[in-house]
Amino acid sequence: MSIAIEKIRRDFQILDQIVNDEPLVYLDNAATTQKPKQVLDVLRHYYEQDNANVHRGVHTLAERATAEYEASRDKLKDFINANSRKEVLFTRGTTTGLNWVAKFAEQLLQPGDEIVISIMEHHANIIPWQQAAAKTGAVLKFAYLKDGELDMADLVDKMTDQTKFVSITHVSNVLGVINPVKEIAKLAHDHGALMVVDGAQSAPHMAIDVQDLDCDFFTLSGHKMAGPTGIGVLYGKEALLNQMDPIEFGGEMIDFVYEQTATWTELPWKFEAGTPNIADAIGLGAAVDYLTELGMANIHQHEQELIDYVMPKLREIDGLTIYGPKDNHRRGGVISFNIDGLHPHDVATALDMEGVAVRAGHHCAQPLINYLDVSATARASFYIYNTFADCDKLVEAITLTKEFFK
Ligand code: PLP
Repeated sequence: MSIAIEKIRRDFQILDQIVNDEPLVYLDNAATTQKPKQVLDVLRHYYEQDNANVHRGVHTLAERATAEYEASRDKLKDFINANSRKEVLFTRGTTTGLNWVAKFAEQLLQPGDEIVISIMEHHANIIPWQQAAAKTGAVLKFAYLKDGELDMADLVDKMTDQTKFVSITHVSNVLGVINPVKEIAKLAHDHGALMVVDGAQSAPHMAIDVQDLDCDFFTLSGHKMAGPTGIGVLYGKEALLNQMDPIEFGGEMIDFVYEQTATWTELPWKFEAGTPNIADAIGLGAAVDYLTELGMANIHQHEQELIDYVMPKLREIDGLTIYGPKDNHRRGGVISFNIDGLHPHDVATALDMEGVAVRAGHHCAQPLINYLDVSATARASFYIYNTFADCDKLVEAITLTKEFFK
């Protein structure tokens, strides 16, 4: 294996437990990942030793809290290779990041302008655009699929000179497919549009270089990458963030406040009104340290090894439909499937009885689920601590489930 799996597993105490009389096999990582001891220790240390508000006090604890919070921003900047720390905004997560970008779009969009997204988007990358379109008179267009992947010809077809925003997920949380977002950014720019990348399912699993992708905005969620819940990042190119109005108003984001007006402080704080989520931002920095030490290329390689190992075994199971790309190497560590004649919720419940945690449902992607013409899917998704033994257990549990409902 490309990473020291036994050592990693010792960092995730939660994995070492029995569920329904079986050892836990946690395969719901696309929903949220577990947190290593190193992240939990940093959170505890922060609250026990350094807790104070940031950017305000001159006392020692306030200075320590501010230094740790801002150091975390620098870690995130390096993690995604942003050009400047001003481009790294702390948010609640991907959903918040995409809502902020869509609010910015409301500043720019005119009636008849177009927003292009794909049918595989998460609701977080659909509904904010629906709202922006409804408020501005812009048109929301969808690109569809071919062979379980984004149909690039259709995407190109959907882009016109009226296209102002293209917003695409880097990795689908349902199909698992890795989209060619660098190529799409180039196409978007050729049409004079801005490129937004939903990185919720890519940033945890592969090296991200926003400058190389040349995207205008990129979002990630801390809880999907071994970090805490309630914290994420919106990356935006500095020039665009300078044009973008603040979303929230209040303390921390101002320069001067007069009775009737106010002026805004500089980036990135212009977007961080109020007391931020200090502890979890610092915790996310610790998660970035943890992942960086493992190496993002190694993490990606590890998940590819798991996929290469498990896919042939799953494909041998009669009556199992797997969604997404045929080529394993076009897929991150996400496998959505259905078993003929069984509801995915029953499948997930039966797998849970075997200790295997998977998700079933529409995965916050109802338009895609409708397009696939199913009511829901079950989904197994991998992370750094999953093993070949976990893959075997998944295959065994699916086989048992099929037998049980026969
Ligand atoms: N985009 C994708 C592709 C996702 O998988 C998710 C979460 O599942 C989100 C956006 C929303 O992320 P969050 O709930 O952390 O804001």
